[in-house]
Amino acid sequence: MTQARIIDGKAFAAGLRARIGEDVAKLKALHRIQPGLAVVLVGEDPASQIYVKSKGEQTEAAGMRSETHRLPANTSQAELIQLVSKLNADKDIHGILVQLPLPGHLDSAPVIAAIHPDKDVDGLTVTNAGRLASGLPGLVSCTPAGCLMLIKDVVGDLSGKTAVVVGRSNLMGKPMAQLLLQADCTVTIAHSRTKDLPAVCRQADILVAAAGRAEMVRSDWIKPGAVVIDVGITRLPSRDPDAAAAGKTRIVGDVAFEEALEVAGAITPVPGGVGPMTIACLLDNTLIAARRLAGLEP
Ligand code: NAP
Repeated sequence: MTQARIIDGKAFAAGLRARIGEDVAKLKALHRIQPGLAVVLVGEDPASQIYVKSKGEQTEAAGMRSETHRLPANTSQAELIQLVSKLNADKDIHGILVQLPLPGHLDSAPVIAAIHPDKDVDGLTVTNAGRLASGLPGLVSCTPAGCLMLIKDVVGDLSGKTAVVVGRSNLMGKPMAQLLLQADCTVTIAHSRTKDLPAVCRQADILVAAAGRAEMVRSDWIKPGAVVIDVGITRLPSRDPDAAAAGKTRIVGDVAFEEALEVAGAITPVPGGVGPMTIACLLDNTLIAARRLAGLEP
């Protein structure tokens, strides 16, 4: 039996970033607009620090303006919302992202609600969720937007395909399901209470796993030839006991990759599949936001 095609998210994201860079250069040359992205980081979470640094570097590499606001861990809710309000009013900033999770004493919901929907490049505000559900132009959460690009690249026309999304978070599962529905798939959203999850997954021509459960999806959950998109990220100790003892880790997805390769038609690896698409789609959203705020597109 032939093995699944491995979807190279890293290469796809590099192509997307190059296209964004060209569009940014045109926007500057023709309209004197430089898209600007502001990232707000509260506290010292090491994973968030790395992620925010990478976002800043990739934003600048695409020719955009990048601002990182690093606030101390003891920042109050009012101070954080005040900064968001200031960024809402800043004409040079077209995208605002508040890095999650926030420190425990802060409530993310009112902070997200304070972001102007037209600058909400993470697509997390109620307004953008409503726009997506209603089929109106808005800003869509970056990871599902990236997954859809990969799926379309492999499948082409999605019309009539059966899609199963495992996970129903506002960040990932729900917007992913909405995007697949918009693309005329027949969509099922599965979650922790779904009965006989393997049987539900086996229906899928397109299976998106976003549960955050390491290697939960086994080969016998996959319909032969299906496109499998693995969003999950779990950090486990290294397989090498000495390396594990030294604190080394490895990242695994929600899908048992090696065995899934024997059944799926195409599959994203972890790492190197969905992950690189997230920041590329953040840049894409910032470009879209800049064009819309300037009245250049609806
Ligand atoms: P989340 O908010 O924790 O949501 C997880 C979802 O999975 C929930 O809806 C939950 O169901 C469901 N779930 C949990 N265990 C399950 C099980 N055993 N069977 C079926 N469903 C189950 O997580 P998230 O933010 O959506 O992220 C999901 C995963 O994607 C995480 O591993 C995260 O790190 C990763 N992620 C990766 C990227 C990337 O750039 N690659 C971006 C975002 C997220 P209930 O609602 O019933 O609890």
